[in-house]
Amino acid sequence: MSLKIHRLQDPVYTSNVYLLEAERPVLVDTGGALKDAILRLVRDVLGDKSLTAIVFTHGHPDHIGDAEELSAALRAPLYIHPAEGERVPAAKPIPERIDCGGARFEVIPTPGHSPGGVCLYEPSQKILISGDTVFPGGRVGRWDLPGSDYDALVRSLRKLNALEVQALYPGHYDPLTSRVAAHLQASLETLLYVGRDFDDEKYDNRIERLRGSLG
Ligand SMILES: [Zn+2]
Repeated sequence: MSLKIHRLQDPVYTSNVYLLEAERPVLVDTGGALKDAILRLVRDVLGDKSLTAIVFTHGHPDHIGDAEELSAALRAPLYIHPAEGERVPAAKPIPERIDCGGARFEVIPTPGHSPGGVCLYEPSQKILISGDTVFPGGRVGRWDLPGSDYDALVRSLRKLNALEVQALYPGHYDPLTSRVAAHLQASLETLLYVGRDFDDEKYDNRIERLRGSLG
């Protein structure tokens, strides 16, 4: 069975939630307060089939809502990078690979926005699920939060730019399937342009200017 990715989003400020529909289905992030919508999506998409895991790109509150309730309701274990284990005490350390059957995601540590941030990369289909590390439009996850690390984020962005990516599924904003390499490169350049001290205005102006060139 091939992989199909379903996205759930909510009008209030919360992360995207992705349901990876495959032989062994996996949920990536649980958003802010989307429990009922997630249960409905899983039921609609999977029917009687059960979810094998709930994995988190990182532990910020808008990505881990209702984690334990969802784990119990869906009978699926929770996984997060150990550097953010205290954010979801019931979660186990995320493995190096997540095999959905027909799609094998590599778990790539991408600290910087948060200490235990990870991206999920599927090399044969060139899919990147990027959490809050990188977004379309030359955007990058904030690096001025407690636990953020500018230098680590630069290294993480360089790591992502070395991958071949055809489809980007970010933690916020819409997924992207065209010119992904240009967007990823622009995100790294945004980070270097704005510099170590995060500055909203400098960042917003840069993203505004990129709108024309990246579309
Ligand atoms: Zn975050």
